[in-house]
Amino acid sequence: MIGPNLLSSRAQSINGSGIRRVFEIGAGIPAAQKIDLSIGQPDFPVPQAIKDAAIRAIQEDRNGYPLTRGIVELREVIAEQIKRDLGWSIGGLPLNPSASDPGVLVTSGTSGALILSCMALLNPGDEIIIPDPWFVLYPYLATLSNGVAVKCPVYPDFRMTAERVEKFVTPRTKMVLLNSPGNPGGVVASERECADLLDLCKKRNLVLLSDEIYDEFTYDEFRTQPMASNPKKLMCPSPARLPGAQEHVLLVRGYGKTYGVTGWRLGYAVGPRWLVEEMTKLQQYVYVSSPHPLQWGVMKAFEVDMSGHVSEYQRRRDVVVRALSPHTSIPTPGGAFYAFPAVPERFGGENERGEKFFQAAVRHNVLVVPSRTFSARDTHFRLSYATPMEKLSRGLEVLAGLMEGKLS
Ligand code: PMP
Repeated sequence: MIGPNLLSSRAQSINGSGIRRVFEIGAGIPAAQKIDLSIGQPDFPVPQAIKDAAIRAIQEDRNGYPLTRGIVELREVIAEQIKRDLGWSIGGLPLNPSASDPGVLVTSGTSGALILSCMALLNPGDEIIIPDPWFVLYPYLATLSNGVAVKCPVYPDFRMTAERVEKFVTPRTKMVLLNSPGNPGGVVASERECADLLDLCKKRNLVLLSDEIYDEFTYDEFRTQPMASNPKKLMCPSPARLPGAQEHVLLVRGYGKTYGVTGWRLGYAVGPRWLVEEMTKLQQYVYVSSPHPLQWGVMKAFEVDMSGHVSEYQRRRDVVVRALSPHTSIPTPGGAFYAFPAVPERFGGENERGEKFFQAAVRHNVLVVPSRTFSARDTHFRLSYATPMEKLSRGLEVLAGLMEGKLS
């Protein structure tokens, strides 16, 4: 019989229900009453220059297949930015094919880069160490590439330290995944933590996969590492800015969150040429390319000043921490637009209190995401403050009220 019995165990082992369920429950709440703090996408309009450039590209008939690795013009811009920011040496274009030059690949969203990196590196049974809590895709990176995701708990401070990671390194480990600023906690790794992780990866011959999709959304006090080309400009610490990184770090960044174009599916990977070349080969058959006219759209993105939006998110972060910290523990988010507060213990045991709190919040039309969606534990919840201040404040009143026991 034809039917679900034909589905692969790979497909069946992927549980898509976590975020989808929150979405479906949210769809049942009238828009005017709904306070949605579950969505992981920016709430500001796409900068006009970026929209205009994409529209122009469509009208100028730049709609066919681009090069698999991305249009030369965009890769050149990325290469320049990487040189300025990280100090990685990159020749002119076409990029110098010598082994020490990093490859540059434009990918189908940041997700595309993450998936291709695992497809390129993992044999069946090979391991990638990911943080727990994780971004929802991370465990499935291994499922999709027949590898094994080894979960490294980073509670209670959500710091992915070398000391914590080292305990999980085995002869099958090939990759360590660092996400800073992090989803779901917004936690930013320190320069010391980045250096220690890089040292560990060098010592054990591992690839350090650095998911920096939220790099632009790093708040002032966590910007502690100078940009390679300008010591006065402080950036989010990155292992990619440290000596020797070019051989060990696969850096993944994206356009979606930074410029509000999550639907455009545009990210990029830079790293050791032998690895990026292999990812490029795989991209040809998996995604073919990322969308051609939209690559022209983000050509000038690095020139757009997003600091006003970052300051606004910093202001909202302060409001979130002020509202919830009297009632629970909440690591101060240093970036991204998420907070990951603990649910008070009276809501239930380690495997249920996130869900119980989520359900209580839904009764007040507030949507958050229980931590069981991105952790082996259900002790926390994620809230996104990429929400206008007025709604955010109303949502926080409900969440604080539930924590205090004033609401039920
Ligand atoms: N990494 C992290 C940490 C994320 O939060 C997300 C999106 N929520 C992604 C990667 C994937 O982003 P993209 O839409 O660029 O594929």
